[in-house]
Amino acid sequence: MKESRIFKNENVLLPEYLPPVLPHRENEIKQLAQNLLPASEGRKPQNTFIFGPPGTGKTASIKFVFREFEDYSGIKTVYINCWDFRTSCAVFSKTILDLGFMVQRKGWAKDEILMRFVEIFKKLNKGLIICLDEADQLEQEVLYDFLRIGQYVNLPLGLVLISNSPYIFQNYEPRIKSSLDIEEIEFRPYSLSEMKDILMERAKEAFFSFDNAVVLLAANHAVKKGGDVRVGLQALLKAGKEAEKENGEKVEVKHIRKVLSSVLKIKPRILEEKVSDVEKIILKILGEKTMSMKEIYENYCKEVEKPINEKAFRNYLRHLSEIGLIKIRKRKVGRERLVSKTFT
Ligand code: ADP
Ligand code: MG
Repeated sequence: MKESRIFKNENVLLPEYLPPVLPHRENEIKQLAQNLLPASEGRKPQNTFIFGPPGTGKTASIKFVFREFEDYSGIKTVYINCWDFRTSCAVFSKTILDLGFMVQRKGWAKDEILMRFVEIFKKLNKGLIICLDEADQLEQEVLYDFLRIGQYVNLPLGLVLISNSPYIFQNYEPRIKSSLDIEEIEFRPYSLSEMKDILMERAKEAFFSFDNAVVLLAANHAVKKGGDVRVGLQALLKAGKEAEKENGEKVEVKHIRKVLSSVLKIKPRILEEKVSDVEKIILKILGEKTMSMKEIYENYCKEVEKPINEKAFRNYLRHLSEIGLIKIRKRKVGRERLVSKTFT
């Protein structure tokens, strides 16, 4: 295999790569660590809810903190992505497995799994922090069960919930949020200059040689496409490949200019997996606007050849609201309901 003249280490441009430092998230990381650290001294950690748009370093930050915690013998950490584990049975079985114990999922009732978890937690006899990432995908029962378990064990148990949408609690009973005593940390989108710093660090690790303007263009593109760092990383990766293809000495402006138009906004998994065609049209119509249900329906009827009836249409709106992609509010005056997208 020929060695690349361009890439020192291509892998650092992959979104899964966890860099040694996370520029411009120092405060959020400090706050997170402070919230969770009491668990190492047998005290109750502060449950935390992290939210903010995609690609702003939410997952990277908790993984960063958990990696640091590996050195604290007093804390065990478990990271779970709720796309893959949604129910109480799934979440607590996964936790048991990650703690290094066996669990039999088939044939076990939920309460048996929960009790098995309690038993293992006691055996562990350490503070435990569970991170539930993409928490908008969770079944409601999980948080209730989490609270129930707290009553059985006298050990520090902490929860970190992460979601793109700040509204994940809107479908829960109000008391759940106060019972969990959740502190919120908002991850704001990066500014252009912050994005540039972040991508610069990655580019230095990834390439032997590059023009600084390449990073600036990638950062600008990422900010324009909604502020997702992954867009910038993909632009750098593609520019590097282009430089290789042209047999260049380094990554230059001409390379990134050539690939930028092919680097698109990264679609959230929810849009790929959970959203029907009608719903995709609704989201497109909405764009960044706030509209009444009636207006959306009228626009939809113009858009498609064979529109479904209004009642069926409203069910789609309700589903979009349930999965947290849109927010439906009552207009202050009158009965009409207003709809807007939450994020994405
Ligand atoms: P989120 O969970 O908010 O959608 P991620 O944490 O998955 O976003 O971040 C997406 C990508 O951007 C990852 O590759 C991550 O390493 C990188 N990233 C995000 N913020 C930073 C940062 N401040 N410094 C370095 N890399 C970052
Ligand atoms: Mg994430």
